[in-house]
Formats: sequence, structure tokens, C-alpha cells
Amino acid sequence: MKLLPNSMMHKLGSESYTNFLKDNPPVNPPTIQSAMVTSVGRNTSMAVQKYMRDHGFAKRIEGYQWEFNVVESPDVNAWCMPGGKVMVYTGILPVTKDEAGLAVVLGHEIAHAIADHGNERMSQQLAVQLGGISLAVALEQKPQQTRDIFLAVYGVSSQLGQLAYSRQHELEADKLGLIFMAMAGYDPQRAVSFWQDMALKGGNKPPEILSTHPSDERRIAQIRAFLPEAMKYYKPAQSSTTSPGNTSTPPAPSKPKTGVKIK
Ligand SMILES: [Zn+2]
Repeated sequence: MKLLPNSMMHKLGSESYTNFLKDNPPVNPPTIQSAMVTSVGRNTSMAVQKYMRDHGFAKRIEGYQWEFNVVESPDVNAWCMPGGKVMVYTGILPVTKDEAGLAVVLGHEIAHAIADHGNERMSQQLAVQLGGISLAVALEQKPQQTRDIFLAVYGVSSQLGQLAYSRQHELEADKLGLIFMAMAGYDPQRAVSFWQDMALKGGNKPPEILSTHPSDERRIAQIRAFLPEAMKYYKPAQSSTTSPGNTSTPPAPSKPKTGVKIK
């Protein structure tokens, strides 16, 4: 799969993000919940940067300018665009409940972006829908259609139908997400109860995060299987002024880290 140039994807990401915020103003002034998103977002993105540096993938996130916003919407949704532009809908907050629950979602969505899943999918869609012309040509000749594809790829709109990630992409995002949240100081074991709660939310309009190729049970089983690896990265946050999370769990003994392979 030929990846699209990151610089163009970042530009599309930041333009789309700005446009989205024009139509959907962020929660302002900040609420306790939106402040929680900002703080968990900051911790998670710092963990992502460290992980990428440590594993020789620093180039992948070159030019990332992280931004986290919360918008008022009943949709159970969250997404991350290339370049680090993250959106959380208030509709997902009753499911995430606490900081660790939020970290599950942010870790997962950020993982899709930095592992180039969205880029691959965009490239695929340009091939299928526009005959494989380059992104630059697509933007020049079919600007609206190209932007619509981009929004569908990143889970912003479902105008073009749900463009679900492959099972392999979902699993990779789940595993990387667990590592990111663990490195950010959130107990990755929290992912199990989060996905159990999400499974109950299924319904007829599944958000990206529920675009489960892996069935709920299968996904949870795979997460459980990966937890021992993720726990190696877990260091509970030192001072937990804002964290009501589980602070009684002792840090896991450090063992050699094998990590997750990023293609
Ligand atoms: Zn996903």
C-alpha cells in the first residue's frame, strides 16, 4: 500500500479540524470533564512521543501538533486526525467515566493515526473511488469529494457509509493503545471493563471505535491476552490530584519490552 505524503495529510487534518470546530464549537468554558480530556490527552500524547522515539519511529510523528477538544454531541464518538488533532464527543464520556477509561479511547484513536491506518485507508479509497490519482490531483480536481472521503476515513462523518478499519488495524490500535495508556500512568486493565461497557452501547449506529470487525468478546479476549505485555509499561501516576483511578496496584516488575510492531 502506497502511503500518501504526511505533510498533505497533516494539512488536510488541520483544515478539517478547524472546519469541524466552526460547525461544532468546543465545550467552553471548560467543564470538569473537558479539562479531564485535556489532561489525559496531554499525558497520552507525551507517552506516544516517548514510545515513538524509543522505538525509532520518531519520524512518523514529525510535525504533529497535538490538540484535544470536546464537543457537545450525543454521539458515542472520538477520533484523531493525522497531525494529532483529537476530538472527543460528550456522548462518549458517560461510557469512559474516569481518566483511565478516557485513556483507553484516546490511546486507541491516536494509535490508528500514528500507525498510518487512516493514511492507508485514504490511499485505498482514492484508488477505489477516484481511480488511484494522487492526493494532490484529487484535491485539485475533486476537492469536495476528496474531503468527504477524508472525513469518512477518519470517522468524522458516515455520509459515505461506515468505513470500518480492518480487524488487523483494530487489534493493532487496541494493543498500541494499551501501551500508550500504561506509559501515561493509567492502568491498562481498565480497558476490559471499558470495552464491556461499550459492548452494551452497540445499537444500530456504531461509532468508529465500535466498528468491530472483531466481535466484542473476541476483542476483549485479545485485550486480556495482551495485558501482561502492556502491564510492563505501566507506572501508576505519582501524584494523583485529579486521578480517582486505581492507585493501589503496585507497579509491574520491569521486564524486557517487546512492544508492538508498527508496519
Ligand atoms: Zn478503531
